[in-house]
Amino acid sequence: MCCSTRNSQATINYFMFNDFVNILFPKTCIGCSRALFKQETFLCLHCKSELPEAQYKANTENPASQLLAGRTYFNTCLPLYYYYRGGKVQKIVKEMKYGNQPELAQAMGKMMGRNMVGKFEPDQIHAIIPVPLHPKREKARGYNQSYFLSKGIAEIMEVPVLKDAIKRNVNTSSQTNKSRLKRWNNVSSIFSLQNSECLTGKHILLVDDVITTGSTLESCCTVLNDVEDITISIATLATA
Ligand SMILES: [Zn+2]
Repeated sequence: MCCSTRNSQATINYFMFNDFVNILFPKTCIGCSRALFKQETFLCLHCKSELPEAQYKANTENPASQLLAGRTYFNTCLPLYYYYRGGKVQKIVKEMKYGNQPELAQAMGKMMGRNMVGKFEPDQIHAIIPVPLHPKREKARGYNQSYFLSKGIAEIMEVPVLKDAIKRNVNTSSQTNKSRLKRWNNVSSIFSLQNSECLTGKHILLVDDVITTGSTLESCCTVLNDVEDITISIATLATA
């Protein structure tokens, strides 16, 4: 048997094996749990078309920008979807964060990137900065979902992702005492700048999964605003 015949036989075996695995353990849609067709990834076409797009314009007037207005300096805040309790976007975010699915975050990032084409001149952005997790939490989770969202956006925009531009100093969690959190916010920031020189004069896209109260993005923007002549735009997968 010649080499190419052997290779193509191996390829056929591989696909047969994959089909077999799919029959035994079908991949299911995150939105509705139905078995996915071969060409579908993470979401079935029906769920994908039903995701509630916010359809905001990249300006200071949209509701997400208005939430942050007056709290920090930024250009615009652009979420892709609405986040409803019990909705499909909530399921996606949960899987992205706790389901060990960095590829899902990256795929959603690509959807964010495509949404920004035309709305928000992609070539105006010089680099993407994901909102960092505390190193302890990132180690426990295995990855930072905002970094993988950023990677997806970067694929569309063709700009670098600066993973370590900001560092998270405080491991905030839902159990964190509110008064302690307030003190951290007042005394020293939850975040600190790492490599500020390379950010001078740049237009940065700050990326997070969901904007709820806006306090995390506000803290990040505040430290980034220490950089001379920086422009900060914000993109999130969803807005609560
Ligand atoms: Zn579905």
